[in-house]
Amino acid sequence: MNVNKERIAQRIDDFARFNDKDDGGVSRFSYGKADAEARAWLIQICEELQLQVTIDPVGNIRARYEGTDSSLIPVFVGSHIDSVRNGGKYDGIVGVVGAMEVLSVMRENNCLPRRSVELIIFAEEEGSNFGTTMVGSKALIGKLSADEMGVLHTDHGESCTEVLKAAGFEPEKMGDFILKPGDVDAMLELHIEQGIVLEREKKQLGVVQAIAGMATIEVTVCGTSNHAGSTPMYLRNDPMPAAAKLIEDIEDTAANHVLDSTVATVGTVSCKPDMPNVIPGEVSFTIDIRDIEQDAIQKTIDRITACAEKISLERGVKIQFRTIGSSLPIRLSPRIMDTVKRAVSSCSDSWMTMNSGAVHDAAMMAAITDVGMIFVPSVGGKSHNPEEYTSPSDIALGCQALLFAVTELCA
Ligand SMILES: [Zn+2]
Repeated sequence: MNVNKERIAQRIDDFARFNDKDDGGVSRFSYGKADAEARAWLIQICEELQLQVTIDPVGNIRARYEGTDSSLIPVFVGSHIDSVRNGGKYDGIVGVVGAMEVLSVMRENNCLPRRSVELIIFAEEEGSNFGTTMVGSKALIGKLSADEMGVLHTDHGESCTEVLKAAGFEPEKMGDFILKPGDVDAMLELHIEQGIVLEREKKQLGVVQAIAGMATIEVTVCGTSNHAGSTPMYLRNDPMPAAAKLIEDIEDTAANHVLDSTVATVGTVSCKPDMPNVIPGEVSFTIDIRDIEQDAIQKTIDRITACAEKISLERGVKIQFRTIGSSLPIRLSPRIMDTVKRAVSSCSDSWMTMNSGAVHDAAMMAAITDVGMIFVPSVGGKSHNPEEYTSPSDIALGCQALLFAVTELCA
């Protein structure tokens, strides 16, 4: 059985038409107008493929291709259709179109698997509405309750519950739809790499072996605010150079003192009162630390904390750390990796095993089932912007590998 390269490319273009903003990129937030239109279009295709469609109370879509043995639990395959603001055409969509292609080809060939296969589209993966990623998959595995959803808010102050209800969903009824270990045999996700490794290594496919864990920390450096003209240098407790020194130490820690796989990023910086002629009283910034080894994440935090203590003593400033988010690294299932390796190697010699620095819905699903991921290259490593691009031939190859892996798992 072979995938249809033209149909795959056409469906990717079709999804890009569902767009909330005409700004050169794709903006399709879950529960918005373009999302609703994309869902309706997708569900129509699922019905044409005679899939049994279920939409859960937070908006995850499941579409089932029935197997011949109803005693067997299903294989899931899918990704997400929501995007960041002014994002690209491929993030999430490649995995959704890949899963649609797998089921289209299976139907065309009257394939009769023993195990059912379910296309799954996770809602609100990007966190574009509420600043929290993977709302759909977290709710699906029981990691995000209706009460917790009520606390999440958009920038405009609407609660997650209000937004879902306005879109016709009933998050308080999610309890009946939560998946537990033993409900799903395996989950496969095809995704763009969103990094530069495959391109650098000149490989067309990646078999993901681990998904990095992360810790997001907010750092606040407090000093003494004062007049920028009348305060001599030797009488200052300026938090800005202290923060600058610490940021330099953070880069040095991740680059030279932990593992090759360790990354640390200071992505936001703010200061108070934020005036050109005032020594700031407070500087805040965030650190995003990621690694596939939890020990390495902890070692990075410990070393940065020690650096902060030293700076604090030397410069007479107070430095506080607050963890605002974390997730554990995930090793993908060896059973599914074996299947995926067989699948990719029967499509191409141009593949490698690799880690994922980005977190995906598959990482959430790993809590309840065996998970596998296939990556296709991102040109220039670019993602989450309109320049995101993966060649049609690489996408088709990824879809073909996905087809081989799904058919082996559900045979
Ligand atoms: Zn994605």
